[in-house]
Amino acid sequence: MKINDPERYFESLRKLERNVYMLGEMCANTVDHPVIRPSTNAVAETYNVGDEPEAEELLFAKSHLSGNKISRFTHIHQNTDDLIKKVLMLRLLGRRTATCFQRCGGMDGLNALYSVTCECDHDGGSSYHKRLKDYISYVQEENLVVDAAMTDVKGDRSLRPGDQSDPDMFLHIVDRSSEGIVVRGAKAHQTGALSSHEILVVPTTAMRESEDDYAVAFAVPANTDGITFIAGRQPSDTRKMENSPLDAGNPMYGSQEALIIFDDVFVPAERVFLALKHEYCGRLVDRFAAFHRQSYGGCKVGVGDVMIGAAQLVSNYQGTAKVSHVRDKITEMIHLNETMFCCGVACGARGEATSGGGYMVDVLLANTCKLNVTRFPFEIARLLQDIAGGLVVTMPSQKDFENPETAPYLEKYLKGTNSVPTIDRIKILKFIENMTVGCGAAAYLTESMHGAGSPQAQRIMISRLVDLDEKVKLAKRIALID
Ligand code: SF4
Ligand code: FE
Repeated sequence: MKINDPERYFESLRKLERNVYMLGEMCANTVDHPVIRPSTNAVAETYNVGDEPEAEELLFAKSHLSGNKISRFTHIHQNTDDLIKKVLMLRLLGRRTATCFQRCGGMDGLNALYSVTCECDHDGGSSYHKRLKDYISYVQEENLVVDAAMTDVKGDRSLRPGDQSDPDMFLHIVDRSSEGIVVRGAKAHQTGALSSHEILVVPTTAMRESEDDYAVAFAVPANTDGITFIAGRQPSDTRKMENSPLDAGNPMYGSQEALIIFDDVFVPAERVFLALKHEYCGRLVDRFAAFHRQSYGGCKVGVGDVMIGAAQLVSNYQGTAKVSHVRDKITEMIHLNETMFCCGVACGARGEATSGGGYMVDVLLANTCKLNVTRFPFEIARLLQDIAGGLVVTMPSQKDFENPETAPYLEKYLKGTNSVPTIDRIKILKFIENMTVGCGAAAYLTESMHGAGSPQAQRIMISRLVDLDEKVKLAKRIALID
């Protein structure tokens, strides 16, 4: 593993000269930009062994390709134990960062492509699987961060990719030769795009025969010619530029999205993992989505652990910890959080071997997991706001706590229990503000809703996967109906 600690990771990103825009300006160095740095810090934790006793076993795996020790984020799952350890790893990192650490999309995308390329080669004599394995070996040895770019901008939602008035609304092949392909389009909502060395592109939906140009999967370095990143905004993001960690709420960690534009980008043939094969897009999308829907049963649970800790802490600081309805609400938060975790673990435990030697999660349970995640973090956040009180959104700024004219008033009038310094109460309330209405909510709430697919996508999969006739037969048998 060439990049084997956070410092080397930061250095590797500094050297990657990418075309990035942020707040209307070119941003040559994203690593040291105050708005983006917390997001890079979160990814850097995936390179940090840390001090949790279980971290080493969770963060690393043995490559089935080289036999070497590798980051689990670059691993192809070999058994159900790997699938469960993935969830445990994501919970651990959610607990450390209280945000999205962005590296799971690449892991999930490579695992989905692993079985699909094997099936494609088996059916039609292509050599995508071998190319993919070479690429995975490279990613494992260098220990790179791979952003899996799936979501196209989609234009008019009532129209298919091939029917859009502007064909670039879905990323597609515009030219090809024996050397490679040229692609054009854009991928939206790319959390982690600015923290990644590589961009792995996969289709956003199943394609039809007439849409073969849209049936494309490939990987390119993030600094490839023709790629432009435009960073997204989040509520309260520029607080990170004010040099006031108190107001940032989670001053160390965050997550950053970007729109990635591919303006006639050349992809060499050895980096193309699927092209002009519409019939493989549906299964690729379903498998990638299932892997990532399982992931949410780990990462958001880890963040939930911090939310529950914040609920207990703020009640201790405000003198409400023994009130029965507060205790009930914290128990409810724990119940919701552990329910998501049960789903994440369960779809790993019921995983199965795939062609090519990988392992796949239980798809029905993965969709059930993610459907819960579209709701429970919102309820956890609601309960946390309920417990914390209205001060969450009425607190003065760090500068007011530092101004000698106002500081004594704030120290006196914003005090909670006597034994706790006022500033500690404010620190945890600022964290709660960040996580429920500030930029932390982008990762904890909006991402829970739409990341890995919006709730309706999971409902469609659940209804497609369940055999309702079989359940009807069960009911008739029990009720003695012929
Ligand atoms: Fe990983 Fe969770 Fe972020 Fe997805 S939302 S990239 S699973 S931390
Ligand atoms: Fe996500």
